[in-house]
Amino acid sequence: YAEISLKDINQVAKTSFPLCMRHLFEKLREDHHLKHGGRMQLGLFLKGVGLKLDDALAFWKAEFSRKVGAERFDKEYAYGIRHNYGKEGKRTDYTPYSCQKVISSTPGVGDHHGCPYRHFSEENLRAALGKMGVSNRALEDVIDKVRNRHYQLACTLTFEAVHASSCDAGINHPNQYFSESQKIME
Ligand code: SF4
Repeated sequence: YAEISLKDINQVAKTSFPLCMRHLFEKLREDHHLKHGGRMQLGLFLKGVGLKLDDALAFWKAEFSRKVGAERFDKEYAYGIRHNYGKEGKRTDYTPYSCQKVISSTPGVGDHHGCPYRHFSEENLRAALGKMGVSNRALEDVIDKVRNRHYQLACTLTFEAVHASSCDAGINHPNQYFSESQKIME
């Protein structure tokens, strides 16, 4: 993967994050907090898009310290981020989650991870897609896929609608969505 620096993150979140990661990103900015499942899903995705460990720590700290304070961040949350990068514990270099894994997760109350095509209500999904700039006609096609439980196809149609470009491979990984998008943006 290419490298993404902290200063570019807001921009690429808007242009190239799939809905599952946009949602987590926005909630983190709003609440200055994410529960464990969200920290894992977004954290590993950001690692996958090339955010270096130091930038990742700065990114999460900037948000979390507004909620729990810098000291508690260092004590309770920094470990988990270093862990994702294989710098703690068994030093496994954890890989970002595939669509299949995200779709099959079971977010509870107050969780924001998971796949919005599967886990959002239709009303919330329509609103989120509208915010991404999906036109009415494309939106109905996306909803149709969702109703038939073809979540990755729904995501592929969303990709095609917001990029005005086809995605013949289909979406099977959030990081693949990102890299396909970046190819078009270049
Ligand atoms: Fe994310 Fe994959 Fe769901 Fe798209 S289909 S929102 S990339 S989990």
